Amino acid sequence: MATIFSRIIAGEIPCYKVAEDDKFFAFLDINPLVKGHTLVVPKQEVDYIFNLSDEDLAAMHVFAKKIAKAIQKAFPCQKVGEAVIGLEVPHAHIHLIPIQKESDMLFSNPKLRLSDEEFSDIAKAINSFL
Ligand code: 5GP
Repeated sequence: MATIFSRIIAGEIPCYKVAEDDKFFAFLDINPLVKGHTLVVPKQEVDYIFNLSDEDLAAMHVFAKKIAKAIQKAFPCQKVGEAVIGLEVPHAHIHLIPIQKESDMLFSNPKLRLSDEEFSDIAKAINSFL
């Protein structure tokens, strides 16, 4: 059965899309730690990120780098932090999180509750810097 992220990529489940190319897809995390929290996923359905080929793992990071630079322009921050956890959704993904301080990356922090309009505006803002 397709993962929830494959169904998002296929357009079967809605998302706030930030960008895509032939191999990768970026969209907003629905439970963001901060505004701009974005997920980067390969279109290829692979659970564990370190099971990607060397070439695809490198390409995923090059794609994530472009998204991170756009996030930083849309949401000025100290840095965009990167995290890979992957215990919840069995489809490799990189979290990109604009941070002002280390604790902004704590996944135990309460998640933001944003309106549909806020999510849409965030995705558009990041996309406008790509
Ligand atoms: P992880 O697998 O890295 O522990 O967590 C999965 C992440 O995917 C979580 O931050 C969660 O909020 C996000 N997520 C899970 N399901 C969906 C979904 O259907 N849409 C979106 N946009 N994000 C999701």
